[in-house]
Amino acid sequence: MTELTPMLKQYHQIKSQYKDCILFFRLGDFYEMFYEDAKIASKILGIALTSRGHHNGKRIPMCGVPYHSANSYIGRLVNNGFKVAICEQVEDPRKCKGIVKREVIRIITPGSVIDEAEIDEKSNLYISAIYSDLRKNRFGLSFLDLTTGEFKFTELSDQNLLRNELNRLLPAELLILKEDPLADEFNEFRKELIDQKIDLDTATSLLKKQFQVYSLEGFGCHEMPLGTVASGMIVHYMKETQKGFPAHIKEISSYRIGDYMFLDDATCRHLELLRNMRENSVEGSLFSVLDKTNTPMGGRILKKWIIYPLINIEKIRERLLAVKELKEDPILRKKLRNRLKDIYDIERLNAKISLQRANPKDLIALKESIKNLPYIKKLLKKSNNKFIQKLADQLDLLSDIKEEIDKAIVDDPPSILREGGVIREGYNKELDELIKISRDGKDWIAEFIAKEQKRTGINNLKVGFNKVFGYYIEVSKANLKHVPPDYIRKQTLVNAERFITAELKEMEDKVLRADERRVELEHELFQALIERISSQGKRIKKAAEIIGTLDVLCSLSQVAEENNYVLPEVYEGDEIDIRDGRHPVVEKAIKDEEFVPNDIKINLRDQQILIITGPNMSGKSTILRQTALIVLLAQMGSFVPASKARIGLVDRIFTRIGASDDISKGQSTFMLEMNETANILRNATKKSLAILDEIGRGTSTYDGISIAWAVVEYLHDKGIRTLFATHYHELTEIAFLKPRIRNFNVAVKEEGGRIVFLRKLVPGGTNKSYGIHVAKLAGLPDEVIDRAWEILIEMEKKVKRKKGGISLGRYMKKMEDSNQLLLFKR
Ligand code: ADP
Ligand code: MG
Repeated sequence: MTELTPMLKQYHQIKSQYKDCILFFRLGDFYEMFYEDAKIASKILGIALTSRGHHNGKRIPMCGVPYHSANSYIGRLVNNGFKVAICEQVEDPRKCKGIVKREVIRIITPGSVIDEAEIDEKSNLYISAIYSDLRKNRFGLSFLDLTTGEFKFTELSDQNLLRNELNRLLPAELLILKEDPLADEFNEFRKELIDQKIDLDTATSLLKKQFQVYSLEGFGCHEMPLGTVASGMIVHYMKETQKGFPAHIKEISSYRIGDYMFLDDATCRHLELLRNMRENSVEGSLFSVLDKTNTPMGGRILKKWIIYPLINIEKIRERLLAVKELKEDPILRKKLRNRLKDIYDIERLNAKISLQRANPKDLIALKESIKNLPYIKKLLKKSNNKFIQKLADQLDLLSDIKEEIDKAIVDDPPSILREGGVIREGYNKELDELIKISRDGKDWIAEFIAKEQKRTGINNLKVGFNKVFGYYIEVSKANLKHVPPDYIRKQTLVNAERFITAELKEMEDKVLRADERRVELEHELFQALIERISSQGKRIKKAAEIIGTLDVLCSLSQVAEENNYVLPEVYEGDEIDIRDGRHPVVEKAIKDEEFVPNDIKINLRDQQILIITGPNMSGKSTILRQTALIVLLAQMGSFVPASKARIGLVDRIFTRIGASDDISKGQSTFMLEMNETANILRNATKKSLAILDEIGRGTSTYDGISIAWAVVEYLHDKGIRTLFATHYHELTEIAFLKPRIRNFNVAVKEEGGRIVFLRKLVPGGTNKSYGIHVAKLAGLPDEVIDRAWEILIEMEKKVKRKKGGISLGRYMKKMEDSNQLLLFKR
């Protein structure tokens, strides 16, 4: 058995506390990994696996990365789902005897990367926590973005709502207590189980400590105890991973999902709000059309506005009028947008400063950003719009912070502190003196060389510097005879010898000590500055929010202008009346044809359910989605793609997109389809809008028609505004049975056996499905097409014979009237 070296003993001792992390063990200029960690890391990072010493007769696997480029390696491990514990030397190896003390100073997890991995600047990076009380059927939810300081919590009354909300937030990590009844759920997220008892008491005291308050009532915690526990779990986790409470997180706020339009996960996906369904990328999403923001803050806020549309008319109008103002004043908008371009991600810079992770260049970026605020405020002040005025009034110019940075930091500092040269001259007396000594030292040496050359008569006498001897005098072989007795020989080279003198060493001491002290002092001054700025973090965060909001308003008005959108009217009634509505994404995507606008009117009076028929590819889905998107746009405060729009407030948009249209899901699509349909039938209200696209497609035709039929009847009787697209023309017959159902179809024209899509929504049902026409368009061989026609004609004959030559709807109506068919009675 080989004894472990003291260093490896220390390694084992530390690793035993961080078993679930890859331990980055600092050894001089490297972070080393050992054993399993080394095997995993070398594979993922593509670095050499070596070994060091023996343990129990086997060589110990090892790999390492240089500390100055560690960030990208850490980022890659974290992106691969690992946690990385950073273990540093916490004392100066020169000043200690024996083995240097080491400690883990931070754990980097998927939700707490700062600059290790590339994080999307237009997205938030959340750590979420949930805490459930199944007996009361209530759930606490909290989330924190460490990179911006946003910290929120809420409570939900149903597990589905919880899941939906998590899907809106898409946290990078989800914390759940090991003892939580839902600990085995939510496997679609990266779960972190907390093996600790955290209850309301522990959570409360953790939060009080974090925010340094006596009571949490000001944050709304008393109304949401489960949300409070979830928030406490996050603070606990931060304390563990960040080794302390992150200073920039100074407040938390509660929210209610009921304050926003409810969009379930399926709806966000179907409407392709932030990502397209096919590739799950931003391209082709609503966000990609609306995003003309010029700051990362703006991008992040825009996403929130999209997935949290408002339901308060006042607030909606407030936003709409601000967008209108900026749209109608293109000069103001241009000036603002130009300025916004010069503003960096001050929200994330602020967080970096508070987390002690900012470098000198970050402070300059903050300063340069702040410089734009006075001009922006001046521009905003001129506006007559109340919302914009309010933003102007609240915009803190942060001039004290700008000045602090300006006074302290040179204009173009290095990105690291190690070498000094960061702090401006004139900022600190002691530093100025040190700089002078170091600069004078160089002049002094020049003089010293001249003096010594003269004294000794050696014309090629030189002074050099190396790490071993410091400053030395170099004399070539030929001149050695002129060397005076006070020179002390240090080194012999082939052609020269090197000497020192007492005078030179004295000066050297002074210069070197000054340089060393200078770096130390710059460090201290920088640290003090960081601390002073951190203490103002709340103000910087607020300014970042105002800039972000302004950026979104500018972006929306720019989009309205470029894409020819109009100001919608949002009101408390129930009618949705859209003239010449367009699909904001499809209208940009199509190349060969012009987008054909369509009118849509839905209300609870006489047009509650629109059944839209038309062959495949005629444009049914597009009409459905554009209607939902126009409603959503209006309620998030955006202009809409239409010539006129009046929107009766919608509290929820439900969508159900039929099996074959929902490509992102795999096999059991029919089950999923029915699940989602059930959800709509249970939860939709008179204020909701339901979009049902080809439901019943995932099963046999007759099953499908029957289910669709029953669903439509039910929605009708419950008073839910619905757009229902189907290629089953049989369904148009329901209009004969129910008063508030209207048939529409997307017009097509037949031209010599071919169909031409007119894309126009017109009243009335279709009695043809044109399936074979579309098949022909798609290029099915002519023999197959001809044979299909034959079969169809035969089948139609048979069906007609059975029903006595009338259509399904009329047949049922007849049966119902004569009370013969109880099955169809409700
Ligand atoms: P359906 O649901 O009836 O099968 P879609 O709504 O999916 O048809 O539309 C099919 C394609 O037709 C779209 O991808 C788009 O390219 C085009 N399209 C749809 N609506 C319009 C329109 N109003 N104007 C122009 N092209 C349209
Ligand atoms: Mg469709």
